[in-house]
Amino acid sequence: MPDKYDDFRVSLMGWYKPSDRPMPWKEIDNPYFIWLSEIILQQTRVEQGKDYYLKFVEKYPTVFDLAKAPEDELMKMWEGLGYYSRARNLHAAAKHIAFELDGKFPETYEGILSLKGVGPYTAAAIGSFAFGLPYAVLDGNVYRVLSRYYGIETPTDSTEGKKEIAGIAESVLDKERPGKFNQAIMDFGATVCKPKGALCETACTMRQKCLAFKEKRVYEFPVRKKKLKKTLRFFHFFILEDNGSVFIRKRTEKDIWQNLYDFPSLETEKETDFTALEKSDAFKELVGGDYNIKTHSQSYKQELTHRTVIARFHELEVSSNFAGNDNWTKVERKEIRNFAFPKIIDRYLNDKSLYLKLF
Ligand code: SF4
Repeated sequence: MPDKYDDFRVSLMGWYKPSDRPMPWKEIDNPYFIWLSEIILQQTRVEQGKDYYLKFVEKYPTVFDLAKAPEDELMKMWEGLGYYSRARNLHAAAKHIAFELDGKFPETYEGILSLKGVGPYTAAAIGSFAFGLPYAVLDGNVYRVLSRYYGIETPTDSTEGKKEIAGIAESVLDKERPGKFNQAIMDFGATVCKPKGALCETACTMRQKCLAFKEKRVYEFPVRKKKLKKTLRFFHFFILEDNGSVFIRKRTEKDIWQNLYDFPSLETEKETDFTALEKSDAFKELVGGDYNIKTHSQSYKQELTHRTVIARFHELEVSSNFAGNDNWTKVERKEIRNFAFPKIIDRYLNDKSLYLKLF
């Protein structure tokens, strides 16, 4: 009795025709060429990678040719592909295979995985394509196809989600023809079960059993952890000056910038101008008494992980009777450099060159 994994495997293998998407590294079993193609394709689009692959195969037809290549020449060959560590790892692994393994490409999953620059995905791909090792590849295509077909609600960017998909991939893998199966699922994801514009109605032979299709939720998969929406916070900082000294305070509360220093401040729910702010009770409580307005700054913005901070700075001259608050410290402007401020305040002070002139 075929189970839910057999159904998937049979449909996929029935759909797959290697000639539909010909690639120079498909349907070959030379591990060296397969490895070359996999490393080139790690961070490169297939179309761009194809030209580089052909160039490399021509210039370095064996692993010995690659191992003996001068590093500068190899880097030049790699130019335009970026991520040069890939080329350096490729070179190091080629030397290892050529000179330490006598040119014999490792034939076990662990052996392949131990090559420099080869991770689990690449090891599964090389192992299955070149040696028929029963390892399922796990890339973005595989995550998408399996999460849609089986309606996986666990976020695929979580540890549990990754485990769940890996378990399914293992169960659906055609152990007799792992290379073909791996190529099939990647091709299927790239050409039919596409991220946008999936060809469910027109080209998918699996739609009858596909949960996402049945529930009309194709684009809800793969599920990802909800991105935290950044909150916006608006701060007004007051640089209250009395005869060359200003008030600062240490931020002791459990909040952003804990243990850094700032100026007396007010936080508002939305962008507020000084005239409106001046009328508020909070402002009167904070500053009170008489003051002269010296300057107002433009808005400053700082992106933190979970929030965006918008700040404005108001320089006010207060009278010598102004006592401030118990938690504030009065310091001479020139001493201010001895205290650590959040970046957004530093930027304001730097912009005004206040460190040089006044602080
Ligand atoms: S029906 Fe659509 S979503 Fe489901 S496997 Fe086919 S292409 Fe992917």
